Amino acid sequence: MTTAAAQPRATNSVHSQEHLSVFDMFKIGVGPSSSHTMGPWRAAQRFIELLRQRGTFARITRITCTLFGSLSKTGHGHGTDVAVILALAGDDPVTCDTATIDARVAAIRQRKELNLAGSRAGFAFDPATDITFSDQTHAGHPNAMTMTATGPGLEPITQTYFSVGGGFVVTEGAPGSTADKPAPPRSIHTGQDLLDTCASTGLSIPQIVMANELAWRTPEQARAGVLEIWAAMAQCIWRGCHTFGTLPGGLSVVRRAGEMNLKLLGVAGGFASDHTADDFHAWASAVRAAKRDFTTIGKWVSTFALAVNEENACFGRVVTAPTNGAAGVIPAVLMYDHVFNAPTDRAVSDQRVVDFLLTAGVVGALFKQGATISAAMGGCQAEIGVSSAMAAAGLAQVTLAELATPARVLMAAEIAMEHHLGMTCDPIAGLVQIPCIERNTMGAIKAITATNIASESDPATAKVSFDGVVRTMWHTALDMQSKYKETAEGGLAVNITVGLSEC
Ligand code: SF4
Repeated sequence: MTTAAAQPRATNSVHSQEHLSVFDMFKIGVGPSSSHTMGPWRAAQRFIELLRQRGTFARITRITCTLFGSLSKTGHGHGTDVAVILALAGDDPVTCDTATIDARVAAIRQRKELNLAGSRAGFAFDPATDITFSDQTHAGHPNAMTMTATGPGLEPITQTYFSVGGGFVVTEGAPGSTADKPAPPRSIHTGQDLLDTCASTGLSIPQIVMANELAWRTPEQARAGVLEIWAAMAQCIWRGCHTFGTLPGGLSVVRRAGEMNLKLLGVAGGFASDHTADDFHAWASAVRAAKRDFTTIGKWVSTFALAVNEENACFGRVVTAPTNGAAGVIPAVLMYDHVFNAPTDRAVSDQRVVDFLLTAGVVGALFKQGATISAAMGGCQAEIGVSSAMAAAGLAQVTLAELATPARVLMAAEIAMEHHLGMTCDPIAGLVQIPCIERNTMGAIKAITATNIASESDPATAKVSFDGVVRTMWHTALDMQSKYKETAEGGLAVNITVGLSEC
């Protein structure tokens, strides 16, 4: 049921009791958007699976997809149609070849057919007519899409999905996504739950998070999985710092991370080519050895964040952290710690990465449970704001040594979010480029500042609690007009005139 004027209700209920893993918050995938690319991709895959379960996969002859609300309004710029096409063609966001996406999608558009789920060659699918960008909003959620399959002698099969942020997908009418998931030993849904659990067990935040992960995987799997997340982030920074040119989409946005990398390394070492080192580790060593004054370090943090989001903007492989639009904040802060703070001993540095990401992950989960991580629900405070809070907590955990009490770690997260409250989502031309790419640099710097402030503060005298800021963010989200919630109908998206060139 859809209406043009419907005010979507909050599918992402406040204080949900879902049990979230750190791997729900960090997912390897493809840019540019977790809610508009990753979510629809997973939804279309889920629909194919539904057809298989019903035994109709081999008999259907047509599939259509209708995008509603924010998915429709910014779906072109966020690559929602591309995600649906690739999902139907059998690609997976974790493993697909990102370098050939443009060519393969162009071929499907031209031939008007695809290899359905990789196993039915020649399946007729014309994206121009089989994907509809509706001018209506679904009553269930701002990010809704309805998939329909038909075939001779078959009743139409229709299913609606909600992309609720961070790549999470809810199937309309289905039980919660974690309904059949084993409960972890510690039930943590608020910051106070986390503080109480740390106090009663004497464990640190990452120790608590790791103990909960063991409900779903072995210690070795959990540790290896977290390090794999970091490796994907690091590779993304590395690629972004070694790629030049302009971004796709028509805005002609010039990539800056590559040039900044050259310039920053050139200041110290006289590097003159576009190959500043042979691989990530050699390059990280070069960065570590470079100049370390305040301005230079600040520029490096910005370079790391720009690198990730420039990759994100061109369908590169990124880690949803907790979203793709905000994918650069946490890698930038973690990379900052990796090259400027952490010891070079591999075992020590790996443990530092694990502790950082486990801490950041639970903070993201608390925002998802108590508020939202969807810009379509809460504006950019829900993306960059949450990622900055996550990064601040992770950085506080690994840098403050004996000062890194659970209360101070959450204080750092609270400070970071407090100064993102009310931030709107207003991407120009619906592309995840302006203001998104630069905004990640701001989120990263605020995270570092929040940690610095927390290190010099007494959590016992704090006036704003972590749970208080989560609650405030949610109420701010409810008050925010829909034109500031990933619709490209307000803010920079309508006040700045830019000419789109041919893509
Ligand atoms: S403005 Fe913020 S929330 Fe909106 S698309 Fe950009 S990064 Fe995401």
